[in-house]
Amino acid sequence: MRRLNIFFDVDNTLIMWNGTLRNHTRHVFERLRDSGHTIYIWSGVGIRRWEMERANLDEFVADYFWKPLDRHHQRLPELGVTLVPDFVIDDHKTVVDAFGGYHISDMAGPDDKELLAVLRAIEEMARGDETIGDTEEPLTDEGVEVE
Ligand SMILES: [Mg+2]
Repeated sequence: MRRLNIFFDVDNTLIMWNGTLRNHTRHVFERLRDSGHTIYIWSGVGIRRWEMERANLDEFVADYFWKPLDRHHQRLPELGVTLVPDFVIDDHKTVVDAFGGYHISDMAGPDDKELLAVLRAIEEMARGDETIGDTEEPLTDEGVEVE
């Protein structure tokens, strides 16, 4: 099974507009860690360690980065991201288009289960399944699919 570098966005992905943590966040982080994956947190507005500490999730996070908002691949080095994300979870489709992953809804109702779908998609990718459902193939900065 592949061990993946997984990058979560924060705003409207894990922490919703009203400040609440998205359903199932802790469960999914536990499962990913226990499966040997590495969790990173990045954000277009800065290092979000404080928010993860406040939610008691810091222990699951390997590192924090600024997220590139354009020229995504090209800007990784200048932002200190020394590895390429294998799977990103983001409410902004451009980021998911760039790296591959799961384009998550920026709204979450009381019974929201999107992170459970994220977990399934990651587990499928780690197993090397061909059918990855609601996920995006990675693109280069020019919008060409990566081989
Ligand atoms: Mg966001």
